Amino acid sequence: MPSIKSILTDIQTLPLNQVEELLSYLEEFLVSNSQVEQIYEDVKEFRFSKGKVCPHCSSELISKNGKYNGKQRYICKDCKRTFTDFTNSAVYRSKKSLDKWLKYAKCMIMGLSIRKSAKIVGINIYQE
Ligand SMILES: [Zn+2]
Repeated sequence: MPSIKSILTDIQTLPLNQVEELLSYLEEFLVSNSQVEQIYEDVKEFRFSKGKVCPHCSSELISKNGKYNGKQRYICKDCKRTFTDFTNSAVYRSKKSLDKWLKYAKCMIMGLSIRKSAKIVGINIYQE
């Protein structure tokens, strides 16, 4: 069984294309594993356990508004904005930022500067 330390040392000796391959694998593993799907289901159930409300204005006057990428969309009759089961949920946000940070890590490993990497990925590094 290799240690984390020896794996990290090995990664540093890999050619760039293999590092990219490894990162793609990790990305897939982290973003689309089955646990994420389960969290989605939990969020969906929790959000609507007290009845459906608009995540923008908390109005209860909402109706179905077609599907996008297999996800049910809704429209609010009060503020006229649309949303999905996951709009503004923590899962939605963290999945987005996880994507960002993985892309950022890729840029860094490929030897781009911090400033350039952040620009490509759209992270404001001076914000936090
Ligand atoms: Zn609304």
